[in-house]
Amino acid sequence: MRVYVSTDLEGVSGVCTFEQTRERGTDLNNEARRLLMGDVSALVEGLLEAGAARVAVMDGHGGGFNFIPELMHPEAEYITGVARPHAALGMDEGFDAGVLLGYHAMAGTEKGMLHHTQSSKSGNRYWYNGRECGEIAQSSLVMGHFGIPVVMVTGDDATCAEAEAFLGERVVGVSVKKGYGRECGCLRSPAWCQDAIRRGAVQALGRVKDCEPFRMDFPMEGVLRFPDKETADAFQPRRSRRIDDTGFEATFESALEIYGF
Ligand SMILES: [Zn+2]
Repeated sequence: MRVYVSTDLEGVSGVCTFEQTRERGTDLNNEARRLLMGDVSALVEGLLEAGAARVAVMDGHGGGFNFIPELMHPEAEYITGVARPHAALGMDEGFDAGVLLGYHAMAGTEKGMLHHTQSSKSGNRYWYNGRECGEIAQSSLVMGHFGIPVVMVTGDDATCAEAEAFLGERVVGVSVKKGYGRECGCLRSPAWCQDAIRRGAVQALGRVKDCEPFRMDFPMEGVLRFPDKETADAFQPRRSRRIDDTGFEATFESALEIYGF
C-alpha cells in the first residue's frame, strides 16, 4: 500500500491563531511547524503499522516550505520547497490512498478554526459546477484525478464534518480540536492528538477498498469570488473572465487546472 499525504498547517494539533500560520519564521510559526512534524510522524507510524510500504508527505501550507528536516520520520519521503510547477508534486497513479493532514474548513464556516479557502487574508471563495468547495474538496479532486481515494482527514470538528459531506461517511475524520470561533477553540495535548492520528491511520488503511476517488464532472465551470470589488479589481486573471463586481468564471478541463483562475 502506497500513501500520499497532503499537509496544511491550520488544522494541526495545538494551532489556533493565524499568528502561528501566516508569517514564516516567528517563534510561534516555528512552534506550529514542530507540531506539524509531530502530527505527520504519528500519521506515518500508524500507516506503517497498518502495512503501508511507502508514504510520501507533501508540504502544502503557504509557500510550501514548512518541514523541519531533523524531525522527519526516517521511513517517509518529504516533498517540499518553493516555486512549484504545479499542485500535485510527486503525485501519480501509483498511490493507493490519500490523507489530508492539518486541514481546515472552507471560508465562512461558522466555528471552523482558521477557516478559509486558499487565502486566509483575502477571503476568496470557490464554486465548482455550482457547489462551493474548500481545500478538502480541492485537494481530493486533484488526488481523484490520479485515482487516489482520500481515506483520512485531520483538523478540527468542522473539518471532519466537511470531509464527510464531500467524501462520504467512510472517510476517517480525526478531530484534534473543536472550534468556538475562527481563532479560538478547545485544544487537546499534542500527545493526545498524535495518538488519535496514529489510531485513525490504522483504521483508514483498513477502509481503502470502501473509499472512492473524489471526482466531479468536466469540463467544469469554476467561479472565484472575492469579498469586495476592490479586492476583485486587484486580481489579475490568467484565464477567467469577470462576471460581476466580485466574481470571475473559468472553464476547466481537468482537476489539475482548478486553482488557475
Ligand atoms: Zn494553510
